[in-house]
Amino acid sequence: MAVLSHPLSGHRRLVLLLATAGGIVLVLAAVVTLAVTLTFSSFATSVRPAGIFLPTEEDGLIVSDTALSVDDDSHPALARLDPAFLDALRAAQAAAEADGIRFDITSGWRSVDLQRQLLADAVHTYGSEEVARQYVATPDASSHVTGQAVDIGTLDAQLWIIEHGRAWGLCQTYANERWHFERATEPGDECPEPKLDARG
Ligand SMILES: [Zn+2]
Repeated sequence: MAVLSHPLSGHRRLVLLLATAGGIVLVLAAVVTLAVTLTFSSFATSVRPAGIFLPTEEDGLIVSDTALSVDDDSHPALARLDPAFLDALRAAQAAAEADGIRFDITSGWRSVDLQRQLLADAVHTYGSEEVARQYVATPDASSHVTGQAVDIGTLDAQLWIIEHGRAWGLCQTYANERWHFERATEPGDECPEPKLDARG
């Protein structure tokens, strides 16, 4: 009995081994298919047909690795800010400099087209307009479009403005956007409680 059962269980092991190998091949094939599908679908969304809006500096676009300083006012993102707001930012920057802090401006004034594009990108990223609207306002509601908001790139500068900015009327206005600042109070007064998110 023991002699007979041995080759049988050996045969069973072989069948099991082949089945396992077959399973691995199927899984690999599925992974490759998925990877190819994802590559092509992201390729399809990154290539825009002619005539689709591509934002430029004229729309206030700041290329992601070239944050502006408060003095780079040849760039439309700064030049088209509300002048009193820009003055407040410059005065705050002058005071922050004494603490070794530089305001890296990653976004300022934006055209309606750029704002619309950012919202569309956010809808794509978050999968629904409802979630996207928590982070990106519509063009008619955005304080970037009216030149009354900036986004600041580095954590030390964000925290500095949150602590000291009210001396120039500068406040964080959305609880979920630590980087977004507006002139929201009289210089020296307390900042209002930030709104929950960009839905207002
Ligand atoms: Zn912002």
